[in-house]
Amino acid sequence: MDKVMLWVTEPSHFFAFVFFVFGCVMGSFLNVCIYRMPLGKSLLHPPSSCPHCGYRIPWFQNIPILTWILQRGKCAHCSNPIRARYLYVELLTGIMFAAVWLIAYCQLPNSNIATQILVGVALSLLMAGLIVATAIDFEHFIIPDEITIGGVAAGLFLSASIPELHSLFLKSGASRWQAVSHSLLGAAVGGGIVYAVVLLGKLMFGRLTFEFDAPTSVTFSETELLLPDRAILYEDVFYRRSDIVRLHADKVELIDRCFIDVDVALSSDQLKIGVDTFSTAETPHMEVVTRKIVVPREAMGFGDVKFMAAIGSFLGWQATVFSLMASAMVGSIVGICLMLLRRTDISGRLPYGPYIALATVFWIFGGHALWRYWWEMSPLLR
Ligand SMILES: [Zn+2]
Repeated sequence: MDKVMLWVTEPSHFFAFVFFVFGCVMGSFLNVCIYRMPLGKSLLHPPSSCPHCGYRIPWFQNIPILTWILQRGKCAHCSNPIRARYLYVELLTGIMFAAVWLIAYCQLPNSNIATQILVGVALSLLMAGLIVATAIDFEHFIIPDEITIGGVAAGLFLSASIPELHSLFLKSGASRWQAVSHSLLGAAVGGGIVYAVVLLGKLMFGRLTFEFDAPTSVTFSETELLLPDRAILYEDVFYRRSDIVRLHADKVELIDRCFIDVDVALSSDQLKIGVDTFSTAETPHMEVVTRKIVVPREAMGFGDVKFMAAIGSFLGWQATVFSLMASAMVGSIVGICLMLLRRTDISGRLPYGPYIALATVFWIFGGHALWRYWWEMSPLLR
């Protein structure tokens, strides 16, 4: 009995449990966001139902984690499998919420419990955003504006209401004004550095350029680009509207006409040959004779710019610089591993958002201490 009392009266343990349960429930909602946001569907209506049979899931069969385990990952009505992702996301969100509560509790020893809880809630919201962004980016290669622009707004609002959020990873306490300016600067620097990387010639991965010794015939079929030595699926090329395949052609042959010595630009919905523009739907097949062809392969896009701005508005500019560097390192390590495993087919298709999210988690759970250590050792400050 005494031990139970002790456990309940020890706030760090008690609230770790509360944050975990709250996180699992929130994770259940995040699953709805991950599924519905990219499709542009309402998050609140209609209520959850089985994607196979349409069975409306009643509340007692919609309990995070327990339902999935008790029903062994199957729909109670039609017994079709329910993706394991639902379980993982619920569990991960629960664990992350409990973990950021402990960070808030340990990093703010001089604050009262109410402040620690509020900071824990603010960090939990950030975690929720990171989890949803990661899952959606993996599947759809986008991060919805609700998360990124909404995240910037949430970060600014929370910084103004809970200035202690910005004393977490700084040495001294932050006043309300300091917290807001730290948040604004974080959004600007975070968005700015990623934008610079996107603009400055795709430093991380670059474009794929194929050059041929002699004019070579290349075929654009309905589904893929056929080079002499390989085929590239369009779904590996056109992730975003801004993705464009460019080349200069000695000769272009469409089904019913021919062009000589022109520039060609192909995006997912538009084909430009010289000054003429066609829709890709009406030009399913094209033969081109060229010496050089440039295929886009951008590691980062504008979604990542806004994503990093949101992270900066919660955590300040230091976190964004750290996250950019750490994500590039993790990205390189993953790339090398995939190369060693001879799975380079995957590496070109991985979105960058999840690396940023992972690096930000690393910042919260210790990266900030590394940063401070490095900063204090820096010859700039001596
Ligand atoms: Zn069902």
